[in-house]
Amino acid sequence: MDKNSKELFTDNLGQKRAIIIGAGFGGISLAIRLQSMGFQTLLIDNRDKPGGRAYVYEIDGYKFDGGPTVITDPDCIEELFTVSGKEMKDYVKLLPVDPFYRLQWEDGQVLDYNNDQLFLEKQIGERNSKDIMGYRKFLEYSKDLYREGYEKLGTTAFLKVSQMFAAAPQLMRLRADRSVYKQVSKFVKNEKTRQLLSFQSLLVGGNPFATSSIYALIHALERKGGVWFAQGGTGSLVNGLISLFKDIGGEVILNSEVDEILTSGNKVTGVSLKNGKLFSSDLVASNADVVHTYRKLLRSHPRGLKYGNSLSKKRHSMSLFVIYFGLKKPTPEGLKHHVILFGQRYKELIAEIFGKGGKLSDDFSLYLHAPCVTDKSMAPDGKSSYYVLAPVPHLGNANIDWDDVGPSYTKKILDYLEEHAIPNLNKNLEVLHTLTPFGFRDIMNSHLGSAFSVEPILTQSAWFRPHNRDDVLTNMYITGAGTHPGAGLPGVIGAAKATSGVISDDFFN
Ligand SMILES: Cc1cc2nc3c(=O)[nH]c(=O)nc-3n(C[C@H](O)[C@H](O)[C@H](O)COP(=O)(O)OP(=O)(O)OC[C@H]3O[C@@H](n4cnc5c(N)ncnc54)[C@H](O)[C@@H]3O)c2cc1C
Repeated sequence: MDKNSKELFTDNLGQKRAIIIGAGFGGISLAIRLQSMGFQTLLIDNRDKPGGRAYVYEIDGYKFDGGPTVITDPDCIEELFTVSGKEMKDYVKLLPVDPFYRLQWEDGQVLDYNNDQLFLEKQIGERNSKDIMGYRKFLEYSKDLYREGYEKLGTTAFLKVSQMFAAAPQLMRLRADRSVYKQVSKFVKNEKTRQLLSFQSLLVGGNPFATSSIYALIHALERKGGVWFAQGGTGSLVNGLISLFKDIGGEVILNSEVDEILTSGNKVTGVSLKNGKLFSSDLVASNADVVHTYRKLLRSHPRGLKYGNSLSKKRHSMSLFVIYFGLKKPTPEGLKHHVILFGQRYKELIAEIFGKGGKLSDDFSLYLHAPCVTDKSMAPDGKSSYYVLAPVPHLGNANIDWDDVGPSYTKKILDYLEEHAIPNLNKNLEVLHTLTPFGFRDIMNSHLGSAFSVEPILTQSAWFRPHNRDDVLTNMYITGAGTHPGAGLPGVIGAAKATSGVISDDFFN
């Protein structure tokens, strides 16, 4: 590789240039903000399509969103269009989903969760009439968390420990030291209602029994902003954002793995790609996994190895086993778009998934995505597409050979779905694709195959999380699930806003 042959991307005289590694939602959102701010921005991703965890698998006319499907807080998405002087409606349409989720248990009970207070109270009251009042109080508590944890702190970059001290009194008032489940249990007594109000932290990689109760804000976030599905799938939201980025002059390179972030002293100067190309820039922001970013991409700078090794020892979120499948029949009558299928064990199962020395449990709880309920264009005429995921230990917690175990685990899950949700599934199965912890590790460079990066526990949140700007390399930034505030679309879109705020201060103030 000839390090003297730097290849500039569009070089408008005097215009600052920014490079972003990784076209996940966090990378794309930051790219849009930087381009709108006046940087000539280059977005580089190793995969053949943008989206990262929101990659779209297209097989025989079926469309499968690879990851995020529950779209919450549409306002944070809309803001990306307004800061660019554009309108969201020209790029993507969001469709409401009702119920937000159906929760179902093996004893045959179901609970439909949506935005209708009376309907929710009726279902909660049927389980325990005293929980109605408890739920009302929990909702107020969740709204309080939302204001403090999301509105005030969700897009603030925690660069100084003093910011943590400033936030501490409010966090302590809200008992952020307690777990989501523990706080929920203070308000409601019925176990199923407790599961209803606590499982959401799993959607951002948090163990409800360990993650800070701050994450109970997700309930208020869903109640306030609703749950949405992008017409044409989450992939069309990704494509809409990429079109927006290109329309305002941004550049995207796919199929290109960044090999190294180049440095001079304590400054980054650009990146080199595995194919030998080099690009120079005034700043680099990484949306790639944080351990990969520091340990691999910054390997030539002492900061990289030192901080990367320390990050590798943090607690990382669980992984996922995801099965994408297409059926040659329409979605069965009555199936809901988002279904959570709880197995018989909740706390014990989650402990096995997150615990060290973990193993693959015999039972599971599943999330089933049936997008054709809302949008039939996700499958060929008369057919239907799905994915089902099971949270599983990451590769550091359980040394499982997924190539070996994958086929039998797939069969077990599909048989379970046939029994509990989709009759005749196996008979109508036409297309099948799986993503295992190996895929998260090998395709997305995720440390230990974690699906959600650094685990969101209190001692790994806010200032304790990898910072939006590096502490040593003065023009090196982080965006995406590994930095503050964390995983989930509102999280990584918020992280991009926090990081762009720091960049704006660094370059223009
Ligand atoms: C199966 C699943 C379901 C989920 N469901 C939901 C949901 O319903 N709602 C929700 O809000 N959230 C959901 N999440 C969480 C959410 O999807 C993620 O937190 C979020 O998408 C992560 O975005 P990110 O910006 O951190 O980047 P990622 O999506 O992780 O993208 C990072 C990109 O960087 C690329 N990259 C890595 N290394 C390099 C390199 N060296 N060079 C170039 N590129 C590189 C990766 O390949 C990837 O494309 C889900 C996650 C998963 C896995």
